[in-house]
Amino acid sequence: MSNSTNVQDSEQFRDKIATVDKSGKRIWIYPKKPSGKYTNYRTWLSWVFLAVLFGLPFIKVNGEPFVLFNILERNFIIFGMHFGPQDFYLFAIGMLILLVFIILFTVVFGRLFCGWICPQTVFMELIYRKIEYWIDGDYNAQKKLDAAPWNTDKVIKRLAKHAVFFTIAVLISNTFLAYIIGMDAVKNIIFEPIAMHTSGFIAMIIFSFVFYIVFARLREQVCTTICPYGRLQGVMLDNRSLVVAYDFVRGEPRGKIQKNKTTSQSLETIDAGISAEYITGIQQKLGDCIDCKLCIHVCPTGIDIRNGTQLECVNCTACMDACDEVMVKVNRPEGLIRIDSIEGIEKGTHKLFNARTIAYTAVLTVLIAVEVLLFSLRSDVEVLLLRTGGLLSQEQKDGTVSNLYNYQLINKTAETLNLEFRMMQPATGTFEMVGGKTPSVEKNNKSEGAVFIKIPKDQLVSGKNKIIVGVYQEGKLITKVKTTFFGPIK
Ligand code: SF4
Ligand code: SF4
Repeated sequence: MSNSTNVQDSEQFRDKIATVDKSGKRIWIYPKKPSGKYTNYRTWLSWVFLAVLFGLPFIKVNGEPFVLFNILERNFIIFGMHFGPQDFYLFAIGMLILLVFIILFTVVFGRLFCGWICPQTVFMELIYRKIEYWIDGDYNAQKKLDAAPWNTDKVIKRLAKHAVFFTIAVLISNTFLAYIIGMDAVKNIIFEPIAMHTSGFIAMIIFSFVFYIVFARLREQVCTTICPYGRLQGVMLDNRSLVVAYDFVRGEPRGKIQKNKTTSQSLETIDAGISAEYITGIQQKLGDCIDCKLCIHVCPTGIDIRNGTQLECVNCTACMDACDEVMVKVNRPEGLIRIDSIEGIEKGTHKLFNARTIAYTAVLTVLIAVEVLLFSLRSDVEVLLLRTGGLLSQEQKDGTVSNLYNYQLINKTAETLNLEFRMMQPATGTFEMVGGKTPSVEKNNKSEGAVFIKIPKDQLVSGKNKIIVGVYQEGKLITKVKTTFFGPIK
């Protein structure tokens, strides 16, 4: 997607990615340490994110995890509510809602999620990268250290950095496992003999290495070549999507500031690091971009945002901070790189709503309404009562007629339920549990059994009668079940 012919006549930059050289070898990215208001906002948001992510597995409600995604045992707890395989329809609609929401969010706000909320970016840019700056120094020091021979300083720094990297990977791995098997099970793996939890321990080690490799080696490759969401940007974005964008109208033609011809700016205000290098070109009739390339130096995916929207851009806003700092120094308005749409840059106005966003919003609203309705109809206890196939009714000596039923109880609560069946329609009728077993079901589990229902013959109106059975817990009606009852063949 080209923003304008003003930006760059050639689209050649799209023929390659910034992290691979001509021979196909990876180019390691050394992004300059970002700073500025957007970096500060992201840092604060990341602390909130990390507090929630690491804190949630510790929260319990009535002795149960507040959230659990136990795919192995098909047991899910979301905000204290149990969900099982029988709630799959809610899960499926929930996934559809998430998908439509992601599409709508991307159409309107571009890839903002990637740079600000995505765990990959939060861990990479706000934890791992900061540790790297702390141990190895800023980008120039990192390059120098990489190129340096193996001496004591380099060995110590490498060992220290990778030890911290792996420790954090273990922490992430344990948290990840806690979401699947629960914090108690993770604590058992950590504190009890390995032999008691061999498979759990192996899983923990494997996850730790995976996270370590992702953050120590793969890095931006996850966003630029592996993540499917990133690959879909091309079909989801349009000229009205808000993205991190370079204002080519204002910035072009770019050029370095010429010392003696600049009239509107006070060059004394320009930082020495910028001015010495860039005060060389013809300033007259040039745009606001002084071609300092700081926006490229800070980019964690190594791209030049001035080429236009690219799928490698994770909307981290580091280039906005870098460019704003430059603009302040050269006494020009901030926002040469900003969050805007191509339409906004070209026409100066931006319409948030259009046919596409309205259509997605309508679909999303309908899906949410359906989910809320189904959710409100969902009960914590499900009872299936089905007449046993192949058996007819039996007339008893006491004047009643009996039918045999199989029942299944599904308990989605966090407590064991001892239930009782009572006839509701017709009002008279008794239950004889097969094997004397009472209808009970353990927490978050299901149980099955069989029961004879006996109804006085004179209460039956036909060969096939509709009956209603009430299911009670501690004298309280929790659900009703409708089924059929065969009378004697007349
Ligand atoms: S940081 Fe701003 S001024 Fe410098 S090259 Fe990038 S867009 Fe141009
Ligand atoms: S172009 Fe800017 S917003 Fe996009 S990834 Fe690079 S630094 Fe972040």
